[in-house]
Formats: sequence, C-alpha cells, structure tokens
Amino acid sequence: MVQRTHTYFKQACLRLVSMALKTGLTQASVSISTCMPKATRSKHQNYLLMCGIVGYLGTREAYPILIQGLKRLEYRGYDSAGVALFNGHLDMFKCKGKVADLEAIVGTAPAATMGIGHTRWATHGEPNDPNSHPHASNSGRLVMVHNGIIENFAALKELLSKAGYVFHSDTDTEVLVNFIEYIQDQEEVELDQAVRLALNE
Ligand code: GLU
Repeated sequence: MVQRTHTYFKQACLRLVSMALKTGLTQASVSISTCMPKATRSKHQNYLLMCGIVGYLGTREAYPILIQGLKRLEYRGYDSAGVALFNGHLDMFKCKGKVADLEAIVGTAPAATMGIGHTRWATHGEPNDPNSHPHASNSGRLVMVHNGIIENFAALKELLSKAGYVFHSDTDTEVLVNFIEYIQDQEEVELDQAVRLALNE
C-alpha cells in the first residue's frame, strides 16, 4: 500500500503509539508519513517534528507545543490545519486556511498532555474543513494525521465500505485510519501491530 514509507519516521510513529499504549490509554493518536524523506527529533525527547506533522506526548500542555510546531512548518505552504488533543476524551479542531485560522476556532484549548497536529497539502479531496486532518476512525478509537499518498486507497475504500465503514471526507488518510482499525479488529492485534500490517499491505 505505502510505496515510500520512510522507516525512521515509521519507527518514530510506532514509538509514539507504543508510548500511548504504555500509558494505558484506550485511545491513541497515530501520525504517519508515507513519503517524506527526512525526520528530526528535537531536544525534547517526546517531541516529533516532520513536514506538516507534529506530535507530542509528555507532561506539558500539548496544544501550545503543537501550534508552535505547526507555525514553524508554515514556510512549506499548505491549505489547511488541524489538531487532535487527548485527555481522557478526544477534542479535534480543523479547518481550511492558516494556523491562525485554526487558533481562532480553537480559542482556549482544552487541557491535554497528548496531541497531534497537521498542515495539509491536499492530494485527495479539495481543501475544505471535512478533508482537513486529523481524521478519526469509525469507532473513534483512532485518530490520524498523515503526509503522503495511499496509492491503493480506492480499493481499500471499497473493501471497507462493503464491511460497513462510512466516510466523512474524500481523503486517502481517512481510508488508512479505518483500514488500521479494520485490521486491528479482524486480526485481533494491538495497535502497533495493526499499523505495521496496514503499512505493509
Ligand atoms: N493525501 C492526504 C490528503 O490529501 C495527505 C496530504 C498531505 O500530505 O498533506 O489529505
């Protein structure tokens, strides 16, 4: 499915997922890049930064860190932005436009020490609010931001639709997050294993 997944980031994402799992959380956020060649890790151990994707899991407030990261990525150009924050329950904010537009709709962010953020460069589906990232799976268990292209998303979407999944956007990303959930349920595996299986499909 994913032709150009970069191993380093895949491992970093899996580490983030594993950290979420170790906290005992029933929900986890997954950030995946399928094409970007370079990832960096800052001096903050739990702070991942890479081309339109920021993730944080730690003891500090996540939202200011995510917004700061997204602003540092603004020079790349993008059409929409969004964040998902988790603190026992999920809060998701996303919109077409700039990071400043996102900040305006968030207002005072809910307290959370875990979150993911994204700036989108649309490839599948026009730039609009529903197509903006993050995307949640049908059950709401998984939330994803993603950079890149899922080349066989149409076949996967058909498979998932036949299995009863419904879609709220035109993106390949929403297909991927539901495909991971589907694998997790079908194979009865943990999230990190389901991510591995999905990316190797
Ligand atoms: N293919 C995804 C989309 O169109 C991700 C685009 C991106 O890399 O920002 O939403």
